[in-house]
Amino acid sequence: MTRQLAKPRLECAAMSDVFGKTFAAQMSVAYYRDGEWEQPKLQPTGPMQMHPASHVLHYASECFEGLKAYRRADGGVHIFRLDKHIERMRNSARQLCLPVPSAEMLNSAIMTLVDSVRDQIPAFPSALYIRPTLIGMEPNIGAAGKAVSEAMLYVLVSPVGEYFTSERTLKLLVTSSRRTTEDFGQVKTGGNYAAALRHVIDARQQYQADQVLFAPDDDVQETGAANFLLLNDKRILTKQLDGSILPGITRDSLLTLAQDQNFSVDERSFGVAEMLEWIKDGEAALSGTAAVLAPVGALIVNGVEHAVHGGTAGETTTSLRKQLTAIQSGEADDPHGWRIEL
Ligand SMILES: *Cc1c(COP(=O)(O)O)cnc(C)c1O
Repeated sequence: MTRQLAKPRLECAAMSDVFGKTFAAQMSVAYYRDGEWEQPKLQPTGPMQMHPASHVLHYASECFEGLKAYRRADGGVHIFRLDKHIERMRNSARQLCLPVPSAEMLNSAIMTLVDSVRDQIPAFPSALYIRPTLIGMEPNIGAAGKAVSEAMLYVLVSPVGEYFTSERTLKLLVTSSRRTTEDFGQVKTGGNYAAALRHVIDARQQYQADQVLFAPDDDVQETGAANFLLLNDKRILTKQLDGSILPGITRDSLLTLAQDQNFSVDERSFGVAEMLEWIKDGEAALSGTAAVLAPVGALIVNGVEHAVHGGTAGETTTSLRKQLTAIQSGEADDPHGWRIEL
């Protein structure tokens, strides 16, 4: 099927500069009240009414997702691993005792909205970022210890450019601080970001670090918004999904691609000493929807900066990143069925 490439109606020229601030004119919205979800509806993106006592504003009953729709060179549009993102959002909602939207409802809210802005999706490597958000709306500050009886789901979409390019390497401050709790690490919730923010800002000010790598009790976990991987030309080492880290869908995709090529993939706990040993001749990288696979060029441990791969992007990191982006862009085949066609 060929489709006429429509000119994007959003201001896309300097998109990477405005990531997070440019939205499509429409969003998808659904309310939960009286024990059930209403059908999601499209409505103008803009300020919304909420009671100042709304549960989310006091007790942080909130979770979200971040995924992308891509326009391929053939003009077709797909969403990358929509089903996995829906499954994770439902798990986050469950952990937060929020009403859990059905997979069908989330699917149709996202698909309908993305379809309505189909012509505004910029060409790869730009994309349409999709941000489903679920919040507790019950106007009751006495409900701190209760599941909410009212909630709202909305989906924002925003055109985005590349977040981290493949050349720039990142500097991480390794800290023994905790990003979140043992079991809440797997929940994509604003509360985890609030808890990590002080660490991230301090690391930037004191060490010009780009991100903080959390390693509480000498357990190297992840950064504030991306998973952490150690790589070389034969092996990948990354923490196992034990509830303390976010089950990244980019992480899962990269590990799958690596396994396809007979890399040995080790998902287990490891400490700072093993990580420093690894980077003597290995690579390190961050994975996430925004970062894809972003090379780490330096780790700061106890005030000492350790270069990773001479501060440049490693071969395995670059190669895996290329393979994943080739699937996302439509340049390569999609052997695992990750592209959900629109
Ligand atoms: C969203 C997120 C990730 C990355 O997940 P992807 O599904 O790969 O985008 C990793 N860590 C944290 C803490 C996150 O919030």
